[in-house]
Amino acid sequence: MATPDTAARETDAKDCPVCHGTGEVSRTVQVGRKRRAVGKQTGFCLNCLGSGEAPAE
Ligand SMILES: [Zn+2]
Repeated sequence: MATPDTAARETDAKDCPVCHGTGEVSRTVQVGRKRRAVGKQTGFCLNCLGSGEAPAE
């Protein structure tokens, strides 16, 4: 019943909580004072800088 030393490591890098590992985030585009939604735009995730991995602390 010996456990290999490496068994504990499943994932080294965590998925970014903001983009969930995609590196992109979709945001709603709003225009005017009524903030009318005109569509969605995919943008670069600023949390992980597009890498999709959670930044190391
Ligand atoms: Zn991200």
